Amino acid sequence: MDFEISPRAREWHERLQVFMQREVLPRNREWVQCVAREGKPAAFLPDLQARARAEGLWNLGLPELAADEPGTRLTNLEYAPLAEAMGRLFWAPEVFNCQAPDVPNMIALQNCANPEQKQRWLSPLLEAKTRSCFGMTESAVASSDATNIATRIERRGGEYVINGDKWFITGAAHPRCTQIMLMGVTDAGADRTRRHSMVMVPMDAPGVRLVRALRWMGCEDHVAPIGELEFRDVRVPVENLLEREGAGFKVAQVRLGPARVHHCMRSIGMSEVLVELMMARAAERRAFWRQVIEYDTVQRWIAESRIELEQARLLTHRSAWRLDREGHHGAWRDVSLIKVAVPNMFQKIADRAIQVFGAMGGSDDTPIHQALAWARLLRIGDGPDEVHLRQIFKLEAPPAWKIADSPYITRPEETR
Ligand SMILES: Cc1cc2nc3c(=O)[nH]c(=O)nc-3n(C[C@H](O)[C@H](O)[C@H](O)COP(=O)(O)OP(=O)(O)OC[C@H]3O[C@@H](n4cnc5c(N)ncnc54)[C@H](O)[C@@H]3O)c2cc1C
Repeated sequence: MDFEISPRAREWHERLQVFMQREVLPRNREWVQCVAREGKPAAFLPDLQARARAEGLWNLGLPELAADEPGTRLTNLEYAPLAEAMGRLFWAPEVFNCQAPDVPNMIALQNCANPEQKQRWLSPLLEAKTRSCFGMTESAVASSDATNIATRIERRGGEYVINGDKWFITGAAHPRCTQIMLMGVTDAGADRTRRHSMVMVPMDAPGVRLVRALRWMGCEDHVAPIGELEFRDVRVPVENLLEREGAGFKVAQVRLGPARVHHCMRSIGMSEVLVELMMARAAERRAFWRQVIEYDTVQRWIAESRIELEQARLLTHRSAWRLDREGHHGAWRDVSLIKVAVPNMFQKIADRAIQVFGAMGGSDDTPIHQALAWARLLRIGDGPDEVHLRQIFKLEAPPAWKIADSPYITRPEETR
């Protein structure tokens, strides 16, 4: 394993850092004010996107772009430090067209769409001309077991007719969201993992309704607002099917690997911000005749955060490295490892940061409580911890020996 950052990735990283310092960070206060007062992203976003794109800082997380598509073609491992740099602000990834859920959707389309479908659904996303969402979860069924997904996609002649309800769909409530990658049942009688298919549905198709916008732990996602959706006799041409009938799980898996890795990379960036905030606040605040940073408890929280953060980063880099070398099948186990490790690390650090900040840590004046909410989300979204832990356990090979025969075990009579 060689995690040394390549010269070209180093160059892109430096360019991104300069852009973040010069163009993005100075606008953070305006962004926060805008979403707090007007409930929508700041109007400067398109201008900032144009500037980023003019500097080549565009589609940074897509290794498999075609020759005529815009982007840097960095590998997943090369992308890691860039995603981390963007992750320091919740809204920064969109400046570079690197936001979820669009990037994982683009990856799914790159891998599973035919040329006509790419033209129709992928090209506008690569250009940031539109936004998208991914619809799997349903309120009526335990969606962590995706075989439960019940939305019906029935073929009638040259069309599919869709009926069902989806909720907690990130990006569905965005005013510019025009397409949903939707999972549903095409053959209820098939094997559990072959019942489902994935179709592309225009959000303005008759019968698609945004029932309501949702918040998570009191927080709104202003980059990709979360929505609850209803589908009633929605008709789409059969040409909107990705891959083939019964391949819904395959498409979802192609999408989920990079989605999880990218979330982890960004979470590491935000965790770094939290450690910096803890250091600064504790150094500036005085309680009971001492600087807060002089307390052993606070020093320990910061040191433990550093250890957990570095461990999480190394494991995330290994997952990215595996994704590059072995694809999503080969990286599956590593991705499960980070899917549990990173959000738990992120949550712990956010919790410590709130404690160090006192009341201010839970206010809207810091990004800390939103970080805590997002860390908490990542322990559930894209598969709860428990599901991944079961997977990880199942992949743990049992030893070939019995305890009594183990070379590591001494019998009592041998040591008496
Ligand atoms: C903010 C946010 C954004 C989201 N965005 C999207 C999106 O864009 N698209 C989308 O499709 N979904 C999205 N989701 C939904 C998310 O992926 C689901 O919530 C998740 O898969 C869990 O499904 P569920 O909520 O139905 O929980 P359930 O399936 O009901 O599970 C509840 C709990 O049961 C336990 N459990 C389940 N399975 C096991 C097991 N095998 N072993 C032990 N315990 C288990 C776990 O504790 C689990 O948390 C989002 C969720 C949130 C909170």
